[in-house]
Amino acid sequence: MARVIAVSNRVSVPTKGSATRAGGLEVALAAVFANNPGVWFGWSGKTVGEGETKTQIVEVDGQQYTTIDLTRTDHNEYYNGFANRVLWPILHYRLDLADYSLRDLSGYLRVNSRFAQELSKIIQRDDILWVHDYHLIPLAKTLRELGFRNRIGFFLHTPLPPPEVLTALPNHESLFPSLCAYDLVGFQTEIETANFARYLISECRYPSRDLKTFYVHGRSCTIGVYPVGVSTDEIGAWAAQSFNAPLVTRVRHSLENRALVIGVDRLDYSKGLLAKIEGFKHFLEDNREWLNKVAFLQITPRSRSEVREYISLNHEVDSAVGHINGTFGQADWTPIRYVNRSYARNVLAGLYRSARAALVTPLRDGMNLVAKEFVASQAEEDPGVLILSRFAGAARECEGALIINPYDVRSISSAIKLALEMPLEERQSRHRATVERLAKNDIKDWGRRFIDDLIAEKSDYLLPASTPSLVEAAVKGAT
Ligand code: UDP
Repeated sequence: MARVIAVSNRVSVPTKGSATRAGGLEVALAAVFANNPGVWFGWSGKTVGEGETKTQIVEVDGQQYTTIDLTRTDHNEYYNGFANRVLWPILHYRLDLADYSLRDLSGYLRVNSRFAQELSKIIQRDDILWVHDYHLIPLAKTLRELGFRNRIGFFLHTPLPPPEVLTALPNHESLFPSLCAYDLVGFQTEIETANFARYLISECRYPSRDLKTFYVHGRSCTIGVYPVGVSTDEIGAWAAQSFNAPLVTRVRHSLENRALVIGVDRLDYSKGLLAKIEGFKHFLEDNREWLNKVAFLQITPRSRSEVREYISLNHEVDSAVGHINGTFGQADWTPIRYVNRSYARNVLAGLYRSARAALVTPLRDGMNLVAKEFVASQAEEDPGVLILSRFAGAARECEGALIINPYDVRSISSAIKLALEMPLEERQSRHRATVERLAKNDIKDWGRRFIDDLIAEKSDYLLPASTPSLVEAAVKGAT
């Protein structure tokens, strides 16, 4: 059985009781490692001085985790800089927020080379590598240059915008085509695969027979759709259990029969927090009968607090929430409860089950697991309603959600009203439609499917003689 080496920016080494905090990637990799034991490699989360970096190898329940530290300069340039101030905004269609510098780019490439150097010490001949996310786009290319011919797959957790946006990145022509050094590149939805295929055709003129497999320098690279799922059964069980947990019970009592609307998002400009708050404000303005009858709980752990855009967003959201609470609030009612802390996923599941509606309004999101977790947490006899942005990857699978456009705050306001006043039968049928669909795409199957496809991938093709004419045809078709 081939070993799998999973590589991601951060590695979470499990600790006692951490299962309910485990993110999607941890759950997926646990399922992969159950069949193909291996190593999870990445950054330890520690930043240290120059010359103080350490490599750590930890084994937990037979599973190996290898982590490396980053220097403070690496962290600033690679993580805070190029990854989060250039790639993250561009991948989320926010060219206006991208802050490109050659220094940060060189930090990004330096850390990718360091990952490759460290990995080269542990890679064995038949190992399969699975690399995650925008932090590590050039990793396979660097490994290939070091002579590794292993199967290497890549999954992008974020959106991938069309070539018209990607080409605004000054070094796009060396960065994005380097994804073709992977054998298999996975995306969340067909939108991303179509955008990347169009980029490879129009910018790189790489030949392809079917716009799925591209021939590059005598090898092939296949692109495919692998939407990240959730474990509906497990989340449903957490929700039923933690519905009666002390914190969740206290929250329900504190509502005093008001309807609960819930939102859970990292503090990030991609999440559409200001649109959501504005939408809720319109709802209160337009539906006075709901004043003092609804409470909106917005849980927003702070993230990337060292990046300037996140500091200003923090102020803007604070001020928007304060304005609504000041304008509409009463001595015995706070319309928005805004909480900057994070909760374990099983606690969130109990809160979701207590809510009449969830407001998930990203301006752009690769998937949005909160949307899926909300649906999985509902009691089928009395489910809450998911209000979901059309720009979240999850919208493709959440068939029963009320789909809104976050750029149209009136659509958010009307959806809140519809959700709160929706008859039980309709709530049940919408919930059934979505949960059945989500149950078919369990997170555990997601990882297995990707690895199986990566193993099956035949990448060492020679360029078929007839392909140049095909690419010309594809270019014509795409332009
Ligand atoms: N989450 C959590 N505690 C919190 C807030 C969020 O465990 O207080 C989890 C949430 O349950 C979900 C993940 O963090 O699994 C967020 O994933 P999503 O795709 O919604 O957004 P991302 O933060 O990855 O952009």
